Amino acid sequence: MEEILEKLKQEIKEIHNLESLKKVKAAYLGKKGCITKLLKNISTLSAEKRKNYGEKVNRLKREAEKIFSQKSESIKKEIENLSLEREKLDITLPGRRYAKGSLHPLSIVLREIEDIFEGLNFSIEEGPEIEYELYNFDMLNMPKEHPARDMHDTFYIDEGMLLRTHTSPVQIRVLKEKVPPLMFISPGKVYRRDADISHSPMFHQVEGMIVDKKLSFSHLKGIMTVFLRKFFGEETELRFRPSYFPFTEPSAEVDIQCIVCKGNGCRLCSYTGFLEILGCGVVHPNVFKAAGYDPEIWKGLAFGMGVERMAMLKYGIDDIRLFFENDYRFLKNFSLTAVT
Ligand SMILES: [Zn+2]
Repeated sequence: MEEILEKLKQEIKEIHNLESLKKVKAAYLGKKGCITKLLKNISTLSAEKRKNYGEKVNRLKREAEKIFSQKSESIKKEIENLSLEREKLDITLPGRRYAKGSLHPLSIVLREIEDIFEGLNFSIEEGPEIEYELYNFDMLNMPKEHPARDMHDTFYIDEGMLLRTHTSPVQIRVLKEKVPPLMFISPGKVYRRDADISHSPMFHQVEGMIVDKKLSFSHLKGIMTVFLRKFFGEETELRFRPSYFPFTEPSAEVDIQCIVCKGNGCRLCSYTGFLEILGCGVVHPNVFKAAGYDPEIWKGLAFGMGVERMAMLKYGIDDIRLFFENDYRFLKNFSLTAVT
């Protein structure tokens, strides 16, 4: 009997699951188990042996049952501990950070341009993107046969209606609605049939206008210089070149010293040392006449720039399409809280 007990203890040492324990238990205490057999032997013994033997076998049986139930408990505990181990939470791990939204680079640049002009006492005026052909061309000194209309590939909507090709028609609207002196900029979306590495069918412009009785080209030069130096840096060199726009006379294009080569010549500036940045001029008398102003009394200064070009030069971006593809890898460069 002692041997049986010893064998049993050895056998269950290696068991770690209830299934195997059940099988071993059946081999000892089941219907055909070895201890059960010993119990059955009682009836074959004589009366005097029976008592002693019976006590011993029953003690063995109770002992075996106790061992099995203890083992069963310890296996259950083992399984529970294992699953707790697997489900363990490490509360010291850092939390997952989520990327915060941030301003689009064009919004950043647009806001900066608006801030600078507001600081110079300009107000901000807006107009519709679906515009009268009359406001977009005719009243800006570009009648039907005017060659300047060829400069724009226009999206026409209907007879006399189009998607504005520039923000200049806002100037006509303001001239018609407000009383001078005037000093405003008009930022917004404009549309042209053009799409490549440096042209997008939709892009942004900021135009500005000043109307007063005594104005000269030198005022315009001063304002453009202040603005461009605030935007690109106080050291920025400027160059004014005579140019042509239908709605201004005289007209000039403003170049800044190349931001890459600082004037020495490189691929970006086509080895000229300068980059075209905006157009400006003195408002053409015909524009004043069209809006009902006497050009003998009123003088006007106007300027216009492309927001995408400003942003491309400021951030060194060489493909305009990046602004509109919404690629997170591009956009996160402009976020102060970018998460890789
Ligand atoms: Zn250059």
